[in-house]
Amino acid sequence: MASAYGKVETDSYLRVISDDFENIWAAGDCSADPFAGTDDQYCPPTAQFAQRQGVVCGKNIAAAMEGADRGLESFEFKGLREMAAIGHRKAVAHAFGMNFSGFIAWWMWGTVYLSKLPGLDRKIRVMADWTLDIFFSKDMSLLTPKYTSALKEAHLEKGDVLFQSGEPAFSFYL
Ligand SMILES: Cc1cc2nc3c(=O)[nH]c(=O)nc-3n(C[C@H](O)[C@H](O)[C@H](O)COP(=O)(O)OP(=O)(O)OC[C@H]3O[C@@H](n4cnc5c(N)ncnc54)[C@H](O)[C@@H]3O)c2cc1C
Repeated sequence: MASAYGKVETDSYLRVISDDFENIWAAGDCSADPFAGTDDQYCPPTAQFAQRQGVVCGKNIAAAMEGADRGLESFEFKGLREMAAIGHRKAVAHAFGMNFSGFIAWWMWGTVYLSKLPGLDRKIRVMADWTLDIFFSKDMSLLTPKYTSALKEAHLEKGDVLFQSGEPAFSFYL
């Protein structure tokens, strides 16, 4: 099986390139799928690609199972836009061929985020939370989990492996 950057390499139909197997398919982060229109680039490991690859992959598996290899769909998606929130109501974005940063980019990011959230009630909750955040200071919660005991007992039978040679040491055994 061919691999690139530790991922299984596929052709543009998302079929794994292999000399030994014919019908293995891969999509999403685990796969190195060719980026449409390039010879040596792969699709980035992001959700917008993974989601669409899943759909094409599913269709192609169905077509292959029906013996209709000619009906295989090539994965041609090249991405819509890139955005990243960086905190303090700021973000960076590349959309519509332009770069944006600061609050306008955060607003764009938030709009896309809200549009992707499932369910109207969740959208409203998140939108209200973000809006209230503008007017009030941070709401802090103090978590006080019970600390785990520093000492533990373990029962081992003869032949059980406690730790492997060369592993980093996290405990002192007595
Ligand atoms: C912190 C972080 C932030 C990100 N932010 C963005 C973003 O803003 N925008 C964006 O587009 N992308 C983002 N990504 C990338 C995006 O999350 C991934 O590209 C996308 O989730 C890949 O989808 P996938 O289905 O290929 O893999 P995953 O979503 O990783 O799904 C793989 C699933 O397989 C399961 N699994 C693993 N091994 C086995 C097994 N042996 N048996 C059964 N199940 C198994 C896993 O539990 C998991 O549920 C982010 C990723 C991270 C880590």
